[in-house]
Amino acid sequence: MSFLPFTRPSLDEETIRGVVEVLRSGWLTSGPQVDAFEAALSEWFGGRPVRVFNSGTAALEVALALAGIGPGDEVITTPLTWVATANAIVHAGAKPVLVDVDPATRNIDCDRIEAAVGERTRAVIPVDLAGLPADRDRLYAIARGHGLRVIEDAAQAMGASWKGRRIGASGDLVAFSFHANKNITTGEGGCLSLPPDADVALCERLRLQGVKRDPEGGMDVDVFGGKYNLTDIAARIGLGQLASIERFTARRRRLARRYFERIDPGLGCAMPPADFENSNWHMFQILLPVDAMNISRGEFIRRMRVHDIGVGVHYPALHLFSAYRAMGFREGDFPHAEAIGRSIVSLPLFPAMEEADLDRVCAALGEVLRSTRG
Ligand SMILES: *Cc1c(COP(=O)(O)O)cnc(C)c1O
Repeated sequence: MSFLPFTRPSLDEETIRGVVEVLRSGWLTSGPQVDAFEAALSEWFGGRPVRVFNSGTAALEVALALAGIGPGDEVITTPLTWVATANAIVHAGAKPVLVDVDPATRNIDCDRIEAAVGERTRAVIPVDLAGLPADRDRLYAIARGHGLRVIEDAAQAMGASWKGRRIGASGDLVAFSFHANKNITTGEGGCLSLPPDADVALCERLRLQGVKRDPEGGMDVDVFGGKYNLTDIAARIGLGQLASIERFTARRRRLARRYFERIDPGLGCAMPPADFENSNWHMFQILLPVDAMNISRGEFIRRMRVHDIGVGVHYPALHLFSAYRAMGFREGDFPHAEAIGRSIVSLPLFPAMEEADLDRVCAALGEVLRSTRG
């Protein structure tokens, strides 16, 4: 039996041939493939302007810059996310203000946001953990009420929707990631879906050193942009991936349903919300019954590995990382995020996974957990 990773990208032969053509074309950096990928993404997002970047983190950083966020500002987000979300706020020179999660959805608890809004609050960054959208109705109502920008960290939400509307097809600034583990990939990459009235030209300058070219061949730099552009090689991968996204999402949803059918409730694992409409099932995450186990989560992961099954941890609560403790965050600040961060594991889930693979995961999960009752 071969090793089953917790995720694996699916690249078809058409995409691989397309990448080879780009390699032979003599143009590797941003060019016609980037233009085509942006046009295809824009169509996918219902006609909104879209710009691509060399990472989802870059998309978040540019979104913060476009929203004018800088030193002295506060930005509200969740402690239960990939640390990129909060790091982007720090890199903008602003202060991350964390709000605990709802233990059921594992996303930011909308009931707690208003208490965290202060004089300096400028924006809120919701995260769609595992591809389950945070409540857009409540978030935008709160943001409107307090004059806040919303920067959606939809890094995990490509293909997800909120009440029938695609994430990224509406709203303020919406950032996605095309990292190799995300639902569609460019190897590394990301994009920003911009509102129709956004300053797209500024977005482009922030992406590439602030350079502004005029038709006479002259140039100026009026803003300190970064180096965030995507290569044509990566964009060609993205075009092939985007063509498959609906198939990928449908497959992930079918597999997620099967996990609900096959995981023995007697094992005491907390399941994710059973959402087969909105979520794109970027990950299938359960909470281990850590208090009833006589081994650590790390040992659980090692024992699953003995069964040739890869299990991931996404994520420990970020405020407990040393750089964030040094900012003043403490254990006990966000008890729900901490408890989830200690017990969460991601089981294998990716489009090319077979039903038999999933059944093997469930059998191993049962065997390992039954052997670890303390
Ligand atoms: C993946 C991810 C990012 C960062 O994306 P990169 O492409 O790796 O830079 C940001 N936020 C969340 C929630 C993510 O999952």
